[in-house]
Amino acid sequence: MDLKAFIRDIPDFPQKGVIFRDITPLIKNPEAFKYAIDTIVEEVKKYEFDLVVCPEARGFIIGAPIAYLLGKGFVPVRKPGKLPYKTVSDTYELEYGKAELHIHEDAIQPGQKVLIIDDVLATGGTALALKRLVEKVGGTVVASAFLIELTYLNPRNLLKDLPIIAPIKY
Ligand code: 5GP
Repeated sequence: MDLKAFIRDIPDFPQKGVIFRDITPLIKNPEAFKYAIDTIVEEVKKYEFDLVVCPEARGFIIGAPIAYLLGKGFVPVRKPGKLPYKTVSDTYELEYGKAELHIHEDAIQPGQKVLIIDDVLATGGTALALKRLVEKVGGTVVASAFLIELTYLNPRNLLKDLPIIAPIKY
């Protein structure tokens, strides 16, 4: 299936010069959504991990069904003020602006292995912040998975040798 056909390009969103890859046409199409999730599941199966860690909000859409299908736990990473218990945070640069993310301090047991999942890998800043958060609370990131990788933003420069799975590439 040509998954790219279900991605809509929105020029100048959320600011001038950025082409936003809109995943909503893909996730509202039952066959495309299923195919995308199943494709990522087949790839990430090769790795050993205990938990899926995802940032709000679009990361949840991709990460939750994958965690469910593989019988793994799901750990949410959220913006400031959203998680109810004690948190650990990380601040990082986005493709457009600055951001701060939080994880519950007891979300991961020491030594647990983690798969990071988000909808889009752009500069890699968010994924790197997720990796730092996981490490701060005692976990190890074994791989990362996305619906889309924007290779022209060179996210691999930031993520170094972390395995990256992404069925749609630009
Ligand atoms: P990065 O930190 O890799 O530069 O940006 C990735 C984060 O920003 C992800 O959480 C992703 O949801 C969001 N993002 C950046 N660019 C896009 C885009 O073109 N489309 C979508 N859907 N999300 C994007």
